[in-house]
Order: sequence, then structure tokens, then C-alpha cells
Amino acid sequence: MLKKTAKLLVTSSLILGIAATASSAADRVYKWKLATTWGPTLSPFIDAPQNMSKMVEEMSDGRLQIRVDASNKHKSALGIFDMVKGGQYDMGHSASYYWKGKDINTLPFTTMPFGMTTNEQYAWFYYGGGMELMQKAYKKHKVLSFPGGNTGNQMGGWFRKEINSVADLEGLKMRIPGFAGEVMAKLGLTVTNIASGELYTALERGTIDALEWVGPGMDINMGFHKIAPFYYTGWHEPATELQFLVNERKFNKLPKDLQQILVTAMRVSAYDMYIQNYHMSANAWDKMGAEYPNIKVKTFPKEVMDAMKKANDELLVEMKAKNPLLKEVLDSQAEYQRKARKWTEMSDYLFLKDNL
Ligand code: CA
Repeated sequence: MLKKTAKLLVTSSLILGIAATASSAADRVYKWKLATTWGPTLSPFIDAPQNMSKMVEEMSDGRLQIRVDASNKHKSALGIFDMVKGGQYDMGHSASYYWKGKDINTLPFTTMPFGMTTNEQYAWFYYGGGMELMQKAYKKHKVLSFPGGNTGNQMGGWFRKEINSVADLEGLKMRIPGFAGEVMAKLGLTVTNIASGELYTALERGTIDALEWVGPGMDINMGFHKIAPFYYTGWHEPATELQFLVNERKFNKLPKDLQQILVTAMRVSAYDMYIQNYHMSANAWDKMGAEYPNIKVKTFPKEVMDAMKKANDELLVEMKAKNPLLKEVLDSQAEYQRKARKWTEMSDYLFLKDNL
């Protein structure tokens, strides 16, 4: 009898022990921090991480909480990659092409000049091998990267004077990141990247002569048109995808259900940012002619576009020859674009051509 009671006690305590462990895992609250490149009111960029954080907290019933720090808090707008890699922040929200000076293989995951449109690029990311290549590029930094919201096709930028020839571009100081910056440098411009909060002052003070930012939804609020009223159509960022970065070690410590909640919330908030920005640009463009009659919308002349394409093609050959992984990514993008563009032409392009 005594023996049986003892056995029962052992069994009960084992069951209780297991229950306690399960309950503590389910109850454990993970408090994370995310650093963004963006200022606290920079819609829709800042909305993507904020919406993601809200979704995560609600879907996890408070078990995963992510504090979003805007650039005014951490004071390092272009230091997101380092802070996530180093573990000071669990997550980041920024643009992959900002890290081209640290690791050239991270460059193509934002957008490429003359590259894929947003639909084509999302198809490449989620179904055409893009996600796998992005994780491969970030692997050695022990950072995971996920699509973080798209701007759609961007405008080519703001210039003080009309650009009639390649000679008009030579010697200009321009803020233009990514591969497009390399192209412009090859055409004789001095290129730089400046965080959004300092752009207007840089243009006003003449630190830069020209800049590109995003599109009408975001650009008009910045006031660039007051200084540089020539607004050029885009060639350089047809599908700018922002990125969520996650410290791999921190991600691996999350229970599987929280990992899934996080991945789902990132994907939903990314798509939401894309349509939010589309809405903002549609509204801004609709009113622009009436409200800002001094803005002169232009397209670069053929001579300039041809020179950009030539420089772009030459740079692609040079950079691919030096970087095997970059070559793998760029070849994958080019092949996907070749295939997808035929369908884009047959569907959206022919429809729009006949219905504008
Ligand atoms: Ca841009």
C-alpha cells in the first residue's frame, strides 16, 4: 500500500512538473526591440513595422511584444544592419541596398534599375526563388531578411534645372542609393546616400544639387519642389522593397508558434505598406497639378536614358565578374524578369495601352 502511494506521488509530481513546464513556455513573454531607418511620422514606411508589432502582440495574446524605435530614438538611421547583426536590436526595418558598402550581395534585394516591377518581384521573392537567395546572402551575418513593404515604381528625382543631355548631369551632387547610385557615378555625378530626415536641409544648403526619394505620396510632404522643381519620371527603382531584418539567434529562440506569427505579420504588413503607399501617391498625384503648379514633370531625354542603360549594363558585367553570389542573384532576377515580363506585357501593359 505504502509502495503504491509512493508510486502515485511520483507519477503525480511528474505530471505536475510537465504541466508546469508547458505552462511556463506558453506564458513566457518575449520582449523585443526593433530599430527602423525611418523617423517617427514617416508614413507609410514607419507604419509597416508599427502595424507588424501590433499584429504580433494581438495574435500572440501578448506573448511577443516588439517595441519599435524610430531613428530619433536610436540616432543611427543607416546603422540598422549592424545593430541587428550585433544583437543590440532583435529586429530592424530598412532597405537592403543601403548595405552595399558592407556586403555587395545584399544590394539587389531592394530593387534594380530597369529591373522587375512590384508584381514581378513579389512573384520572384515568394515563388521564384528570391527568398532563398536573400537568406543565402544574409546567412554569413546570422541575420534573416524578409520583404518589408514596397513603394512601387519610384520617381526619378528632383532637379534644380532641366536635364537635356548627359553633360547636364556631369558634376552634379546627387543623393541616390543602390545600384542606381553606381550608374550615376559612372555618368560623372558625385553620389551619396543621406537619411530621409536630413534630405531637405542637404538640398537647401547645396550639399546636394539633386535627389531622388520615393514618389509623390511621400515626396510632396518633404518640400523638395520648393528648391528643385524639375520632377523626373523613374528608371532606377521600379519596385523598391524594404526589408525586415531579424537576428537569427533570437529568432531561433522563439517557440515555433511565435515564429509563425512573426513571419505572417511581417508579410501582411509589407503588403499593406505597398497598397498604402499606392493610395498616398494616387491622391498626391491627383492634386499635384492644381496645388503645386510650379512642379515641372519631365522624362529624361533618350540620350540620357541610353547612357544610363549602357552604364547599367557595363556595371552589371563588372560586378558579376567579381562576386559569384551577386551573379547568382542577378542572373536569377534577370531570368525571372525575362519570363514574367512577357506575361506583364500580355496582361497589364496591353490592357493599359488600350484603356488610357
Ligand atoms: Ca528612392
